[in-house]
Amino acid sequence: TRNAHNKSNSPLAQYGGRFTVTMLPGDGIGPEMMNYVKEVYRYAGVPVDFEEIRFDPNSESEIDFFDAITSIKRNGVAIKGNIETRENRPGQISRNVELRNELDLFTYIMHCKSFPGIQTRHKDIDIFLIRQNTEGEYAMLEHENAPGVVESLKIVTRANSERLARYAFDLAVKEGRKKVTTVHKANIMKVSDGLFLETCTAVAKEYPNIEHNNMIIDNCCMQMVAKPQQFDVMIMTNLYGNILSNLACGLIGGPGLLSGRNMGPKYAVFEPGTRNTGQSIAGKNIANPIAMLNASVDLLDHLGLDHHAQLIGSAITKTINEDHIFTPDLHGQATSIDVVQNVIRNIQYETKAKNWG
Ligand code: ATP
Repeated sequence: TRNAHNKSNSPLAQYGGRFTVTMLPGDGIGPEMMNYVKEVYRYAGVPVDFEEIRFDPNSESEIDFFDAITSIKRNGVAIKGNIETRENRPGQISRNVELRNELDLFTYIMHCKSFPGIQTRHKDIDIFLIRQNTEGEYAMLEHENAPGVVESLKIVTRANSERLARYAFDLAVKEGRKKVTTVHKANIMKVSDGLFLETCTAVAKEYPNIEHNNMIIDNCCMQMVAKPQQFDVMIMTNLYGNILSNLACGLIGGPGLLSGRNMGPKYAVFEPGTRNTGQSIAGKNIANPIAMLNASVDLLDHLGLDHHAQLIGSAITKTINEDHIFTPDLHGQATSIDVVQNVIRNIQYETKAKNWG
């Protein structure tokens, strides 16, 4: 039973009713967040075993990194924290970017939905943000032509733009959405963003029941902070997606809440929406665990473990909207562990209620 988001055709590693999933804790707050995921899964009785791969961000060796890739190729699915990029050397490729390229995770999907329990300037935001995840400004083709003159290439291909647009429109249909907005800067980058816009517009014609409009990125930012409720599904190139997804998280309550899905034709990787390392808050029991827990719910949803996804998902929602257990990023005083324990309590309550009912 594959859900609406799952476009992956890779066989999942399922043995005797249990799934094996690759876990890359990453750096900063990643490892502690993963411990919370394991704890919550244990209480919810989730039939998932993790194959955990840690690597030293300062190591010169790529062996661990390629082990991670092999593991994801074997299991089909992974959950990850952000991997710190080693010191800023030219030519140093971000392993997060490398991983997405290697696994052809061409789409990033973030569902930006307001939590009624969190006080924010805007209410009732409900946007599916679809970002190109492997090319554009992240091609990492930069060089110094002459001293003091650098060139950075932005790659846009029709093939990747087309499958991204199709993914967005298919998702719009499945989720019962009405409008798709293509975000671009084709007035200045006439050729690259021009191709992106032209391709999305062509794909839109195949979906006559979904309205399609387009918006220039600068105006889009202004519209997002002024009236975000006007947006439904949005498609964009890589860097605009990076900026807009952070903007959307900011509108909804910060970096600790939303999750994101990296999807490709074969593999799926789940992670917190803003992809932060949170180095300075690591080990202090103050990071908000909700974003990673939501990533773990996305993963269950992808595996077709609907019951567990629903159980943990509603325990999280109740923690925020009804119990109001907030870490400092949400101006609360709860620790990370307080939040996780509350989620677990809600799971236990729900499970007991079901057993007695
Ligand atoms: P650092 O945390 O080391 O300052 P940074 O400057 O690279 O890291 P990011 O890791 O990108 O920042 O995170 C951006 C901001 O969001 C930081 O202030 C970080 O502490 C905060 N942040 C990230 N994740 C969380 C979380 N889960 N809960 C609370 N705050 C978070």
